[in-house]
Amino acid sequence: MEEIKTAAQLYRYMKNQLKASGIEDFDLESRILLSYVLKEEPFFVYMKPEKPVSEEDVQKAMALTEKRKEGVPSRYLTRKAYFMDFEFYVDENVLIPRQDTEVLVQKALDFLKDNPKAKVLDIGTGSGCIAVSIALLNPACTVDATDISKEALAVARKNALLNGAEKRVRFIESDLFSGLSDKYDMIVSNPPYIKPSEFLTLQKEVRCHEPVLALVADEEGLAFYRRIAKEAKSFLNDGGFLLFETGYDQARSVYRIMEEEGFTFLEITKDYNGIERVVSGRMNE
Ligand code: GLN
Repeated sequence: MEEIKTAAQLYRYMKNQLKASGIEDFDLESRILLSYVLKEEPFFVYMKPEKPVSEEDVQKAMALTEKRKEGVPSRYLTRKAYFMDFEFYVDENVLIPRQDTEVLVQKALDFLKDNPKAKVLDIGTGSGCIAVSIALLNPACTVDATDISKEALAVARKNALLNGAEKRVRFIESDLFSGLSDKYDMIVSNPPYIKPSEFLTLQKEVRCHEPVLALVADEEGLAFYRRIAKEAKSFLNDGGFLLFETGYDQARSVYRIMEEEGFTFLEITKDYNGIERVVSGRMNE
């Protein structure tokens, strides 16, 4: 093997390794891992290809490359993900924030324009990405965020702190609504929604590394929508909003669930790929 002395050589090595093991975004992912090891910006390798690399950094980069080849997502290796342009800490206790979920946050922010001081609840906050982003992008609202997982809540708290939102978001350990007593103007949730029968078809990165508790739901993936839509009614003020992220083929079913529970002004919003992704509605308006 050629000796690795510069950032560009190390980058080439990592890229080839990831490409050969079938990783689709091998270029981006090798830059993410390399810049993490060298404590540089993701594009630095184009700017400073001749930057010398130490033997220790080469070893570190190679070890991460091996882990990535085994299926560990880069975001867990670097412990960092980006959502709504904010940085979030992630580990295997929480899902990695997805760009699709930004549509849910955007929709929530649109509705909050008319009621900026709203009380917002995020059910199943995971990394806290939804709750923290809403708090930061709508500074007059207050946000409560729940999760059944203690470990996830520790991550979410860390993310509020990391982004300076720790005074704005209250984290509550709760199985859906069980630990709550307040009423809210808006409830948002990106609940687990993968059908048990589809679990085995997920990429190994997701299937073997992301928390199954955050992914899979009974009743063809609809169990949490049913429970949340039913119970939300006792926790929403009149005219309050309920917004869900849904799986790629679930928006129509979730629309019907919300309709049956009496929600009105129902709307389906597509994500950046044109997939129906967010279902929203209001109570008693
Ligand atoms: N609310 C978190 C997110 O959107 C977690 C979602 C989940 O774990 N199902 O990333």
